[in-house]
Amino acid sequence: MNSGVVVIGAGSFGAWTAWHLHRAGCKVKLIDAYGPANSRASSGGESRIIRMGYGARDIYTRWSMEALPQWKELGSFVPCGALWIAPAGETHALETLRALSVCGVLHEPLPADQLRGRFPQFHFPSDCWGIYEPQAGALLARRSIQTLVERMRGEGVAYEQRSFHPAETDSAASYVFACGPWLPKLFPQLLAGKIVPSRQEVLFFGAPAGDTRFGPDSMPCWVDLASTFYGIPDLENRGFKIALDKRGPAMDPDTENRTVCGESIVAARAYLAERIPALANEPLVESRVCQYENTADSNYIIDRHPDQPNLWIAGGGSGHGFKHGPCVGRMLKEMILDGRPAEEPFLLRSKAGVTELATGSSL
Ligand SMILES: Cc1cc2nc3c(=O)[nH]c(=O)nc-3n(C[C@H](O)[C@H](O)[C@H](O)COP(=O)(O)OP(=O)(O)OC[C@H]3O[C@@H](n4cnc5c(N)ncnc54)[C@H](O)[C@@H]3O)c2cc1C
Repeated sequence: MNSGVVVIGAGSFGAWTAWHLHRAGCKVKLIDAYGPANSRASSGGESRIIRMGYGARDIYTRWSMEALPQWKELGSFVPCGALWIAPAGETHALETLRALSVCGVLHEPLPADQLRGRFPQFHFPSDCWGIYEPQAGALLARRSIQTLVERMRGEGVAYEQRSFHPAETDSAASYVFACGPWLPKLFPQLLAGKIVPSRQEVLFFGAPAGDTRFGPDSMPCWVDLASTFYGIPDLENRGFKIALDKRGPAMDPDTENRTVCGESIVAARAYLAERIPALANEPLVESRVCQYENTADSNYIIDRHPDQPNLWIAGGGSGHGFKHGPCVGRMLKEMILDGRPAEEPFLLRSKAGVTELATGSSL
């Protein structure tokens, strides 16, 4: 390993991997085909939610707790809190409540009448309840990754903008392929069907002039478990973000048309009319088409290539991976430099094929 580690992909997974390797004293080179957090990349959006609640999957709760200070240090965290909205008895919310208690995460279960008092922007029917996570919030996604890469370059980490193919690897270095939705194209025999990119549409609605109720000082990020709509308050005056957390159709990250279709706008307006009525007729001020890179169980892949011991794969963020970049990076550093074995739930060999693209969500 005299030539150190080459990290291919400067999204959240790759940039943080390069960072942890660099901080451990390793010689690192970072390569990206289109640039850090580019518009095609999954990490290229304006904002991402960082929440601790993860249903029964405590490992991700603990990773969110570990990652949060690292994002804060980067200056990319907006401390607006996060709100889960759930129908009575909803399993994921009940599991989240348990996990937050077990892991020692600050949280407040709130019945409908208290939700109405705390968050008057929303309409809450009497049979719903919520969990508020005051320490959660939003991450400025693109900006944070670009800041991290600039910081590394300032400390001497080499960065190159070009497309790098697995056939170019040799035995002189270790290679981490953190190529998000491109991984199945780069490793078709290994990953086709095990990571499937899906088209996801994101909408930004403008609040009425002078109305500050939808900014991060006034409302939290939120996830509505009944509808699987989720949202982020109006950050940097770009508009109130809303999207549906359901896997869309399969897509190619290089060539996909990134114009949103009218159906998602109609569906979002219908939802807003019920849940956040003040925004239902406000104008769409921005939109984006991004992609999830789904695995069958929505657990990431962090593993060694089965035939090439100096080659590692990190991906399968499945619509929720951005926040955990610092932990993916730390884990890969331990695997590459310290010999830590790959482990469940991130093993490549235990990943089934993705079969339910149309119905799955990232939760
Ligand atoms: C709409 C939407 C909402 C989301 N919301 C959240 C959220 O609220 N919270 C959260 O935590 N996560 C969220 N996610 C998921 C999260 O954004 C992704 O899981 C995460 O960004 C994946 O990062 P990555 O580094 O694996 O991939 P990417 O960011 O896609 O990075 C891969 C990089 O590899 C480069 N690359 C590809 N092929 C090559 C090659 N051959 N040579 C060189 N470079 C190459 C690409 O240019 C790209 O920059 C969301 C995702 C979407 C789409």
